[in-house]
Amino acid sequence: MFFRRALDTGKKLACKGDGKCENLKCRFCRFHKCIRVGMKFVDCLEDPINVLSALKRNDEVRLANFLKGRPSSDVKIKDIFTQFKFNFFPKPAGTQFDFYEWGVMNHLTCINFAMNLSFMRYLSLEDSQLIFKHSHLMYLILVTAWRSFSTRMSVMCHPDGSDIFPEEVEQSGYNEVLLNSIRSQLISRLIELKVTEEEFLLLSALLLCNTATPNLSQIGQTLMEAHRVMYATTLLRYCQHTYGHHAPTRFTDILSLWTTIGNTQNDIDKFSALFPIVQPQDVKTNLFTEILAFLLN
Ligand SMILES: [Zn+2]
Repeated sequence: MFFRRALDTGKKLACKGDGKCENLKCRFCRFHKCIRVGMKFVDCLEDPINVLSALKRNDEVRLANFLKGRPSSDVKIKDIFTQFKFNFFPKPAGTQFDFYEWGVMNHLTCINFAMNLSFMRYLSLEDSQLIFKHSHLMYLILVTAWRSFSTRMSVMCHPDGSDIFPEEVEQSGYNEVLLNSIRSQLISRLIELKVTEEEFLLLSALLLCNTATPNLSQIGQTLMEAHRVMYATTLLRYCQHTYGHHAPTRFTDILSLWTTIGNTQNDIDKFSALFPIVQPQDVKTNLFTEILAFLLN
């Protein structure tokens, strides 16, 4: 009974101790003990039909916050990756975001989406942080390409049409071939495959539920594996329902986007390594650069 209820609360389970306390009232530790002694978790997972509608609702919230919101002015880097909770406020009409402000909103709304995925509620703080370090930027790349694609753009850009690179880059005579490859390689594949919203949502969940994340705890692995199977099964069923006997090819095509996202991330890494050389003036530390520093260290 407790096990079922812990799954139903919809809130993040957290231990006030070190995650191994013996307090019977600690839901986090009781839940983890159930998993350790081998209670069947898979049986309690959501019905595939509900999986997609939950993802859709979560993504609508993410997009609405991204387009119409601004973060609270007192949000601190240490809270972002320990509390994972943010308040968004309505953006006053006529507000223009610069590169860094769009960047912060993209990060925070994507973190919010990830934290609303059901498996994230049951993970320890350490496992949650490992997942962000391993998968958040990949997910952010997919989201950025998807948003641009769904507004019929052929390159990745911000909602106001501004570039995904800061102004300093445009003025610096940077290698345009590399920049264009970052802006366009994933979106070209989305256009070519005519990726649907359902496929985007399930790929998002699969990217974040990556059981290959290094150093996960055993319990984290068990929890994520069950969810990974759930998302993959839902994608396969969606493909069977939509593409009939072409389903296996379609399923493989959608998963192949993972490689394109990885290639885009590699190009961004190359860009980031060169950026201080091409742009010798120091970029001032701000919340955006602090978020990146946390993720990349
Ligand atoms: Zn505890």
